[in-house]
Amino acid sequence: MNSAESSLLVSSDILIGGEWRAGRGTPYASLYPADQSINAEISAANADDAREAVEAADAAWRKSNWAGLKPHQRAAVLHRIADLITARHEALAQLQRRDNGKPITETRGLVTSAANTFRYFAACVETLEESLTPSRGDFMTMSVHEPLGVVAAITPWNSPIASDAQKLAPALAAGNAVVLKPAEVTPLASLALARLCEEAGVPKGVLSVLPGKGSIVGDALVRHPLVRKIAFTGGTEVGRGIARLAADKLMPVSLELGGKSPTIVFADADIDHAVNGVLYGIFSSSGESCIAGSRLFVQRSIYDTFVARLVQGAKRLRVGDPSREDTQMGPLITGQHRESVERYVALGLEEGGKLLCGGERPAGDNREQGFFYSPTILDGLTNEARICQEEIFGPVLAVLPFDDEASLMREANGSVFGLAAGIWTNDYKRAWRVGRALETGTVWINTYKQFSISTPFGGWKDSGMGREKGHLGIREYMQQKSLYWGMNDAPLPWAN
Ligand code: NAD
Repeated sequence: MNSAESSLLVSSDILIGGEWRAGRGTPYASLYPADQSINAEISAANADDAREAVEAADAAWRKSNWAGLKPHQRAAVLHRIADLITARHEALAQLQRRDNGKPITETRGLVTSAANTFRYFAACVETLEESLTPSRGDFMTMSVHEPLGVVAAITPWNSPIASDAQKLAPALAAGNAVVLKPAEVTPLASLALARLCEEAGVPKGVLSVLPGKGSIVGDALVRHPLVRKIAFTGGTEVGRGIARLAADKLMPVSLELGGKSPTIVFADADIDHAVNGVLYGIFSSSGESCIAGSRLFVQRSIYDTFVARLVQGAKRLRVGDPSREDTQMGPLITGQHRESVERYVALGLEEGGKLLCGGERPAGDNREQGFFYSPTILDGLTNEARICQEEIFGPVLAVLPFDDEASLMREANGSVFGLAAGIWTNDYKRAWRVGRALETGTVWINTYKQFSISTPFGGWKDSGMGREKGHLGIREYMQQKSLYWGMNDAPLPWAN
């Protein structure tokens, strides 16, 4: 790492209950996926650290007056966090690139998004209004919202700084304490962000960051009685396990889970835009994106020409060094994950699929040192094939033709997932009809993978529950309370 990147990594310590110190878990090396060089030695947390962090967070939450600050005072701290992120923008983007190997152009966008998220929720908390409800007696009735207490935020490795911010900003704005558990393989941006939060004035103990194993640290957080909410982003099976444990504690959870998003191209679409949009939808972030458009349905009359254009485009994508400004795809996150992607491609071929491009590790330009994988397109499969049903989380696209809207809708909705979908057409009535009938939390029409912090995001079906973003996103970190104010001097009638 160069000095700009490492300036944010003060030591291998982690933040436990307001103290930067070594965790008691097994230390490990954080690797740069592009060449496997060591970024840093990280001292992992263990279950005792998790319990200590939760207890310290609960104590700090009660003693520090964080929850008692006026909304505009907490908003000021969030604005300072955003300012500090902006001031360290390039260093954070480079650190995040080292953390998970995404191209630098993409990690810059994630850092900008993180700063904007803090600003947005600062604005939300400052402008949030409570209500006087219509009273039905000699009393005034009010509905207000209170913080929950200690929130555990558990995040994946694919966009660490942005997904951390999406949980930390609303949770802190709402007046909670947060224990953040980043993915084991991407601790760097989360630790750097914690230092900026401290510098901005988040009280000691109100935020802890615990890199380590999900099955140990994450599990200890979920089970701890003082944790009042889990905000989780990750795989569906892990999310389901968390929801089961949360049910026993009657604890709210928000779950942002996996996807197998369909993209639909109608014959009347603007073909140039659709080709670009489909390539971006599946291959940006090397397909390591919950919303990757990994199932493509193309109307049969344009199928051959569209797929030929797509394959041509995929072969031209620049896969390589994430520090280069013109790189479009970096490496996959780990060697183990690349092997899992390779197994899926082999399975697709066994299931009768035809490989149109990719299906290999690209060679040359030092790429053998990292976990690179070429953009891969298969066709000849049915929607029931396992590679059309299971989330691969890599640069693998399955293409299927369709004849009519009825069969298309059955197949597009024929998935346990329901995270996102894309439609390419110039017929606005059809876009409306199909968009409303898709069983997904987000639909993009003549665009893909675009986001606004002001617009809610979340999944249907096995893609999750709860919503992040949007001004109601802050309510996910609050609990409602009703207040009745007696306005009659006479005693209650029953007592007489
Ligand atoms: P993962 O589920 O393996 O891990 C996510 C987080 O959960 C990590 O911090 C991990 O350490 C922790 N964890 C693992 N086991 C745990 C347990 N038993 N108890 C508590 N915590 C545990 O997911 P991943 O491989 O890091 O990320 C990829 C997945 O995340 C994909 O399925 C992807 O679709 C999903 N994802 C969803 C969204 C969304 O917004 N819907 C966004 C990004 C990623």
